[in-house]
Amino acid sequence: MSKINLLSSKIYNRIAAGEVIERPASVVKELVENSIDAKSNYIEIEIFNGGLSSIIITDNGTGIEKDQLKKALLPHATSKISALNDLDAIATLGFRGEALPSIASVSKITIKSKPLNQQFGAEIHAEGDDISSPIDCAVQDGTQIIVDNLFFNAPVRAKFLKSEKGEEGEITSLITKFILGNPNISFKYLVDGKVVLQSFGDGLESAFLSVYGLSILNECFYVETEKNGISVKGYIGKPNYYKANRTHQTVFLNGRNVTNNTINSAISNAYAPFLMKRQYPFYVLNLSLPVDAVDVNVHPNKTDVRFINNQIVYGTLYSVFSKILSENRDAVSLESFEIQKNTNKENHQEKPTENKVGYDTHIDNSLFEKLVFESPIKESDTSDVFEENKRFLQELEKSKLTEKTDKIIDKEENVLTEIEVEKELIFVGQALNTYLIYQSGTDLYFADQHALHERILFDKIIESFENKNIVSQPFLTPYVFNVNTLEFNFLQNNVDILQDMGIEICTFGDNSFKVSALPIFLADFNVKKFFDGILADIGTLKSINAKDILRDKFAQKACKSAIKSGDKLSKEEIDELTKVLKNNLALKCPHGRPVVIKITKTDIDKWFKRII
Ligand code: ADP
Ligand code: MG
Repeated sequence: MSKINLLSSKIYNRIAAGEVIERPASVVKELVENSIDAKSNYIEIEIFNGGLSSIIITDNGTGIEKDQLKKALLPHATSKISALNDLDAIATLGFRGEALPSIASVSKITIKSKPLNQQFGAEIHAEGDDISSPIDCAVQDGTQIIVDNLFFNAPVRAKFLKSEKGEEGEITSLITKFILGNPNISFKYLVDGKVVLQSFGDGLESAFLSVYGLSILNECFYVETEKNGISVKGYIGKPNYYKANRTHQTVFLNGRNVTNNTINSAISNAYAPFLMKRQYPFYVLNLSLPVDAVDVNVHPNKTDVRFINNQIVYGTLYSVFSKILSENRDAVSLESFEIQKNTNKENHQEKPTENKVGYDTHIDNSLFEKLVFESPIKESDTSDVFEENKRFLQELEKSKLTEKTDKIIDKEENVLTEIEVEKELIFVGQALNTYLIYQSGTDLYFADQHALHERILFDKIIESFENKNIVSQPFLTPYVFNVNTLEFNFLQNNVDILQDMGIEICTFGDNSFKVSALPIFLADFNVKKFFDGILADIGTLKSINAKDILRDKFAQKACKSAIKSGDKLSKEEIDELTKVLKNNLALKCPHGRPVVIKITKTDIDKWFKRII
């Protein structure tokens, strides 16, 4: 048997570094967080060669006393918590005391610091694990940390890195999050000597502009509201604005950038009626909850959090967002239609084009009655937050908790003040046997008659499906198929869902299923393909989500039955379409194309150069 050795601190730090410091961006993250914790309002980040040759972070925070410098580099040395109780209400970003020693163990690090009340500053060097004694030096108030030759002694780690450009990209995206999440801190970010991003610490709008620019700001609602003790502040994409992936979903919880499933599903579900498959909402949100309602001490990289009460968080966000979106739907404007086309080519570094901020949709309702944030259970076990969140979301899907939670929370009505007054929609005419033209106030609306009708039919199909108004048509000969044990259990657990879909299915012996009828609207349905598809995804499916699976089918059906472009419509048909359109200018066709496009008088005036 081999002997058990106690690891030297040298080896221990190197192992710990592997967990905390994965790449240059991890160094930047830890150091900037330290600067924020030190109450800095100016933080400068400069990197060279993707951060591999050098990372320099300079702040104007509280600084570190000369006699504390050495301590800061020792493992588990932190000034942020001292007693176990402190762990229950963590308000700072760092608290484990492992960042500086971990960075020091894989780089050459210099710390220069001067607390405000000191006449001189001091500096200290560490290389690998050798720490020098601090000496006096000339330096501004605050702290400067220089990290050179990252991973010089960890060749294996270095192998897993991306290219310098790739690492630089990671850092840049991190800095954008810092800017958005700390709008009152001024950041300056330089790459190889050039300023790449700069914010001015004068509020959220300004921070948003320095990252995304004016055109995207105009595609967003500003939200500021408080409900159930949760304060929500930030920018959310209008119902018609979307991104091609999730990278533009930024959430800060009590100042900490988090990725949390409860939050993301609440928001995604609120957007679901507006967006189609592979369209993702855009948002930058600052959420605040009482610190004792969140547990942050759950993940080494601290990107997920655990809520004492998931249901309140989900329900609150879902209802707030649903309300904003449903009360502020409008057609795609000509301008945003263009922007959407361009920005979906992933150009998020777009710079502001003018200084004046022209957006007008401000939703403010901070006058909420503040409810006490209930915390019925406070478990001390922090290990299975992910399991717990997953379980919660599964239950949610199963029991349609969405609706229930929504109702509970909607007890207090008037979540948001209504801002859009219903305008009258006047039918102007049909053009090219394809487009219906309407006037409302000083706006013109062009509706695509096929897309509009298609969408109406699609909604009808979904509705009858949800109300279980489905007629099944039996097969002449039933379809029987074999499955393995895993597949058998999965299908058996989902038999109810399939039957609700109008699919008559039952077990047939120990390893087969028999399908004897299909919903009538799926007459041209390939049963084999359908089940092959479900079983192929078995590893990733929690349960069968019938609506999702059938969505494409429904869309096809709606498309086939809808009036076509080129059809001349009767007055009755037009009236019918107009009726639906009145409340639904934000509609999209089931394939995600817009149904209505808005052209404002200003747009037209610009064409004729009446205004510039
Ligand atoms: P933690 O942030 O978890 O406390 P670190 O290893 O990141 O651990 O930092 C150790 C300590 O060094 C901090 O608790 C803080 O007292 C001090 N420190 C680090 N960076 C700064 C800074 N930029 N300004 C002031 N103090 C700092
Ligand atoms: Mg820290």
